[in-house]
Amino acid sequence: MNLQGKTILITGASRGIGRAIALKLAQAGGNIAFTYLGSNQVEIEETENTLLKLGTKVKGFYSDASDFSSTEQVINDVIQTFGSLDVLINNAGITRDNLLLRMRETDWDTVLNVNLKSAFNTVKASIKTFLKQRSGSIINISSVVGIRGNAGQANYAASKAGMIGFTKSIALELGSRNIRANVIAPGFIATDMTDHLTEALQETWEKTIPLNRVGLPEDVANCALFLASDASSYITGQVIQVDGGLLT
Ligand code: NAP
Repeated sequence: MNLQGKTILITGASRGIGRAIALKLAQAGGNIAFTYLGSNQVEIEETENTLLKLGTKVKGFYSDASDFSSTEQVINDVIQTFGSLDVLINNAGITRDNLLLRMRETDWDTVLNVNLKSAFNTVKASIKTFLKQRSGSIINISSVVGIRGNAGQANYAASKAGMIGFTKSIALELGSRNIRANVIAPGFIATDMTDHLTEALQETWEKTIPLNRVGLPEDVANCALFLASDASSYITGQVIQVDGGLLT
């Protein structure tokens, strides 16, 4: 699964799953462009330097994934800096959890914009490049919650379910041009996003996972490497759960 000479753009790769994907794909020889928003310059330089040590081209771009014009600018900058765009990974995501009764309109709008509209933004801004080169792999990071739903996460689950419908639709639209689109649906993965949950809740999740452990960002990164590479060249429109069997 060699990514030598390929340019990969990952949204939100300063931490967690996005960062693990950046490392894994750089180890496979890919050139890495990534976006960030809240991370500070020191954190970004640390990520860039770690990746540069692997011998590939790397650049972090400050950009709000939910903003269309900022995303369009980033895609143009990536193509100018790296000369191509081969793999697009929509990873940026947030939660604003609450029961629907208490959920504010802004909690709904913010989560839908960052988690779902962001995928529209990147795909829309890069589609002409993919069409011209007649190749491309789009990987959207959804969640098992987008398949099953989750009490207290109506906004998040809706955004992640929307991502699945979006991905399947573009897989149908773009397949004839050799552009693939797939979803990774992680289960419970140990990152900042899950770190704030109470220990009791984390233990409850862990007990229900058939493989008997929480997932690591690297588990998701391994799947992303497969979908980014030519090893998955006959796979499109699919949802791959990386959840230790949680939804089985
Ligand atoms: P995380 O540790 O909280 O990291 C989130 C990343 O998204 C950060 O790099 C953050 O960058 C970036 N981000 C957030 N809002 C952004 C915006 N508006 N524009 C650009 N970047 C933005 O979360 P994670 O656990 O790694 O999650 C990564 C993805 O996996 C998310 O889509 C999440 O929904 C999904 N997922 C996670 C789990 C899990 O259990 N952890 C399970 C299923 C799915 P800054 O810090 O620079 O803002």
